Amino acid sequence: MTTLRDIQNKMTKAVYGQTLDEALDTQLCIKCKEPAIAKCYSPAGIKEYNLSGLCEECFDAIMAENDEDEDGWGFFEITTNKE
Ligand SMILES: [Zn+2]
Repeated sequence: MTTLRDIQNKMTKAVYGQTLDEALDTQLCIKCKEPAIAKCYSPAGIKEYNLSGLCEECFDAIMAENDEDEDGWGFFEITTNKE
């Protein structure tokens, strides 16, 4: 049976070169590969690390990127409008 964690591990392995489980086992951030807890400055950040494997710094950086990408469906619209 494929669990959500299996999917997360596959995705994180593809994107970051390590699985979420590996990152949590070593207590390193999955993205910057530095000690994650040291880079979490709030309890919410530590909670987020245990869910996503991202230290708070990287998590905030990713959220900031997504905020700028307001037209996130652009690619989808282009591909579906093409006949
Ligand atoms: Zn990080």
